[in-house]
Amino acid sequence: MVCQYNKIFYRGSEFVEKQRALDYILERESLILGISDNIWEVAETAFEEHKSVEYLCDALESEGFEIERNVADIETAFTGRYGEGYPVIGILGEFDALSGISQVPDLAKKEALKEGGNGHGCGHNLLGSGSLAAAIGIKKYLMDTEKSGTVIYFGCPGEEGGSGKTFMAREGVFDELDIALTWHPASVNGVASISSLANYQILYKFHGISAHAAANPHDGRSALDAVELLNIGVQFLREHIIQDARIHYAITDTGGFSPNVVQPYAEVLYLIRAPETPQVKEIYERVNDIAKGAALMTGTRLEIDFVKAASNLVPNNILEAMLYKNLNSVPIPEYTEDEIKYAKGFMESTGEQKNPMTGLVMKIPDSEKRKLLLSKLKEPILDFVLPYFKSDQVLPGSTDVGDVSWICPTSQIAAASWSNNTAAHSWQAVSQGKGSIAHKSVIYAGQVLAATAIDLINNTDKIEEAKEELRSRLGDNEYVCPIPKGVKPRSISGR
Ligand SMILES: [Zn+2]
Ligand SMILES: [Zn+2]
Repeated sequence: MVCQYNKIFYRGSEFVEKQRALDYILERESLILGISDNIWEVAETAFEEHKSVEYLCDALESEGFEIERNVADIETAFTGRYGEGYPVIGILGEFDALSGISQVPDLAKKEALKEGGNGHGCGHNLLGSGSLAAAIGIKKYLMDTEKSGTVIYFGCPGEEGGSGKTFMAREGVFDELDIALTWHPASVNGVASISSLANYQILYKFHGISAHAAANPHDGRSALDAVELLNIGVQFLREHIIQDARIHYAITDTGGFSPNVVQPYAEVLYLIRAPETPQVKEIYERVNDIAKGAALMTGTRLEIDFVKAASNLVPNNILEAMLYKNLNSVPIPEYTEDEIKYAKGFMESTGEQKNPMTGLVMKIPDSEKRKLLLSKLKEPILDFVLPYFKSDQVLPGSTDVGDVSWICPTSQIAAASWSNNTAAHSWQAVSQGKGSIAHKSVIYAGQVLAATAIDLINNTDKIEEAKEELRSRLGDNEYVCPIPKGVKPRSISGR
């Protein structure tokens, strides 16, 4: 369990307390990694993470944090607070799993631990505990130095398909923050200056009239026909929307298995994405019109059920530069021969699929570094920090961290939790979620976030600069929560 680290990395008298805070994370390693493993074991999905929340709250409480549960009226949302006064630094933690992706741990072959069970395919067990590591490191610093400052661990449920943070943002949970920091498990270490896509998720429900499909079809009104016509209409819409938008759908209820019955009920779940919320809204309204048309054509009744939404991520170059400095100052974990062999097994299990890192590395402006890193992309573990450069890239995905980034300067790092070429939401990611490589990434990420928060506490000018950057990026736009009032978070089973 114990990680191999070069323990002293911040030398000099001004760094004594900072180093002590980071050492404290190592001292608490078995607590932190134990929680990560426990959360992996229980693998609870969106808004049902009751046991995971208990593990985290117990640990925070034992470290002297003041816990508030049921935040924003969400049972599995909580905060843990330590310290007083300015600056108020938020550390975002997630802990929800994905359904149907259960996997035997540490096995480089697809095999469910529990058929149809849940699994941590996005590494949120690591995310939640790495953020815990950061929070307790910052607490140690505040305690030792008696400096002004508050650290708040935000227990954010339902990231996967739930946008827990967006619901929390709607209720003003993040409003007191000066800065928010977080991280995500990945196959490499780094901080990127990227935005993400805003999204809306909506269920279109059609209510028809059941009838015998042969005897009296003229009396029936097919809800399934309405779903099909909506989908066909949207196929034609796709040509006439902006390039960067995405419209995905899943038919979540076809109305049953009987072709000899006119289906009285059917529903389809839509996920609409675009670089900015107003663009998503515009497409959403056009999809609504198509859905109304489908209902009119089929004589069915349409119910539009807004599920959730997320805003685009607003990058912050000031925070990114500070995180990058610490990504390089905190020693990157070193790996044993056994770990390299372990990672090689997982890398080979991904077959010939194209390494998603290639595209990222190809964008590095420095050609020498680019060449060097391209050659490293064949290694089983990417034990380096990706060079940081400013860009206007948009991540072709979404995150509810986006909503926090509209409220206060927010930034996140990635840490190498998985073998090279492991994709998030894959069985390989679940399998590696309790391994020693993943464990090392939890401690590394926690130390990098804590070190950056400590730098911010000591240099509050940077906080004000980061706020100024956020103001200038937003211009005249103010944060408006994309989830309408009255819409409540819902679990997968409660959908
Ligand atoms: Zn995910
Ligand atoms: Zn995730």
